[in-house]
Amino acid sequence: MNCMALPAPLSGKELSTLLDDALAGYRLSVAEAASLFKVKGRDVWRVAAAADEQRARRVGDVVTYVRNQNINVTNLCINSCGFCGFSRKPGDTDAYYHSSDTVKKKAAEALARDVTEICTVSGLHPDFDAGSYLQILECIREGAPGVHIHASNPMEVAYGAKKSGISTREMLSLMKDAGLGSLCGTAAEILVDDVRKVICPGKISSQEWERIIREAHDLGIRTTATIMYGHCETEEDRAQHLGILRRIQDDTGGFTEFVPLSFIHYRTPLYRKGAARAGATGREDLLMVAVSRLFLDNIPHIQVSWVKLGLKMAQVGLLAGGDDIGGTMFEESISKGAGASGTDYLDPAEMKRVVEDAGRTLRRRTTLYSILPGA
Ligand code: SF4
Repeated sequence: MNCMALPAPLSGKELSTLLDDALAGYRLSVAEAASLFKVKGRDVWRVAAAADEQRARRVGDVVTYVRNQNINVTNLCINSCGFCGFSRKPGDTDAYYHSSDTVKKKAAEALARDVTEICTVSGLHPDFDAGSYLQILECIREGAPGVHIHASNPMEVAYGAKKSGISTREMLSLMKDAGLGSLCGTAAEILVDDVRKVICPGKISSQEWERIIREAHDLGIRTTATIMYGHCETEEDRAQHLGILRRIQDDTGGFTEFVPLSFIHYRTPLYRKGAARAGATGREDLLMVAVSRLFLDNIPHIQVSWVKLGLKMAQVGLLAGGDDIGGTMFEESISKGAGASGTDYLDPAEMKRVVEDAGRTLRRRTTLYSILPGA
């Protein structure tokens, strides 16, 4: 999908040298990351082992999680991203929109569940403008005072700003004043426009995503960084995406963590029309975590998302560079919409079981990675 020169497959000796160098502090190039995404057979374990070593050196043996809840205010969306099984159009029988009272009630329920984070992203509702996003923040603040609000993403910021005729910077500033604690780094998908044209032609460009993320960081709003992989992108596209994230982090230091999101294909238009493969394989999932750990030398935390990977694969990801297992969730609906099951809630006791089974220690964290007492 891009014009980067295709690297030749690495020989065993080249792979050993590259991994040794990376562990000694050498910064991998984008082309080298692409080569690592391509390794097969037992070389996969060598990459994973190097990434695990890097993880141990950088962040130690603790695996973190956050107690959080999702509130997806509406699934009505003007866009039609091919990888999305969540969005609905007006008139669809299962389209929904939560009123302000419902949002407040859900936020209060989240507080009663002892969450420290409420995460809210929604469809791009045809009637939403900047004020709608501010109102959502206010309702959550009212329903769950003191809870960190991890909300929206650069696409929603661009949409709200455009609908209200203000700049994205102004929009972010208003959101911060209304209680935004941090911005979701979703809508990144793959930051290669040729791929975006296929999977999400109605979304902001790579350049626009980067600009809004940089604005957020500049305003002191931390964000996550994500990638959505396993559809029609190449290894080079993935590597190029990581290169953009690393460059932003060098300049701003605003990313809290990197969250690889494995494509859930079942109920998506992209898969149904044959324009995407049936998600990433286990090898690809493992390498996504491992190569990210080795390449992103400036982002301390790599999340293995149990929602996207399933708990067993997430546990294996913890042995390949991952150090965060994500959130408890409560009420996940985006992956469920695309056909995933069992994504509603994960009990920390179950997280503890798999984390300790991997030889590590589970600790509860805040959104911004302060460790909280107790697990
Ligand atoms: S991914 Fe987001 S913007 Fe795209 S169709 Fe789904 S809800 Fe809408």
